[in-house]
Amino acid sequence: MARRTVIAYFCLVLLTLFVFASCGRDLDEPPGGKITVVTTTYPLTFLAGRIGGDRVTVVQLVKPGVEAHDFEPAPSDIRTIANADVFFYNHPAFEGWALAAASASGSGPGGSSQASAIQTVILETEGEDHGGQEINDADFDPHVWLNPLLAQKQAGRIIAALITADPDGSTEYVRNGDGLEAELRGLDELIAAQLTDCALDTVVVSHLAFGHMAERYGFNQVGLAGLSPEFESGPSHIANVIRRIDELGIRHVLQEPIASNRLAETVAAETGTDILVLHPLAVRTVDEAKAGEDYFSIMKSNADTLKTALQCG
Ligand SMILES: [Zn+2]
Repeated sequence: MARRTVIAYFCLVLLTLFVFASCGRDLDEPPGGKITVVTTTYPLTFLAGRIGGDRVTVVQLVKPGVEAHDFEPAPSDIRTIANADVFFYNHPAFEGWALAAASASGSGPGGSSQASAIQTVILETEGEDHGGQEINDADFDPHVWLNPLLAQKQAGRIIAALITADPDGSTEYVRNGDGLEAELRGLDELIAAQLTDCALDTVVVSHLAFGHMAERYGFNQVGLAGLSPEFESGPSHIANVIRRIDELGIRHVLQEPIASNRLAETVAAETGTDILVLHPLAVRTVDEAKAGEDYFSIMKSNADTLKTALQCG
């Protein structure tokens, strides 16, 4: 009898271990495996990761340290999109290749079933905030995530898309989204508080990525380059920037981490100004990714940079 009891206990313990082992791997994981989310750039990776939590695996196409405006998808990227449950990109004015890549990813043999499995969600916020500008308007600033309240709108679209792809996760997506929204609102308040009582109202930036931030917090940006860093600024434009730095008493040139420093260094040397980092956040640097820097930590650094450059408080 005792022996049988021992065996029974042993079996019970084994069974318990087995149950814990299979559940303990990931309690929140969907029964069919994690939802595969493919993103173009870092802000979408961050938002989808926070909202999706343990239910999703997020794959970012533009790798850390790569200038996002230059990116063109390789055939392997098209295959990655084809295998996604959800594909997020920001805006055709930023990833002009994304829609074509999404449709190409479903065009192979059996493509129609693949395409139907992909839910392409255009994360643009044109309309109420931008006077109804056309999607392909060359003047549209696609860097919407740099205003935390617009990032919140993107988060709303990501929540809706994840619920469509994985209805069983809706409670978790909504809960995670609520926490994220509170944090984004807190960030917005923090930046607004830091950028009050400023001596200056204009910053010089490496490219015009900060229009939505400037609009939200009440400053102007002067770009060494335009909406895309590739825009070649002519000597007369640079001479004009140098003249405005002198006229306005600007003491800093704000340079992004993933771009050539040459122009910023030339202008800083010419005007006797210092260079500070202001991060457009389309992708993180390799070091930032390794160090676990995220949207919030980098945005807080941006707020510190702007506070210094605008001479606030
Ligand atoms: Zn940009």
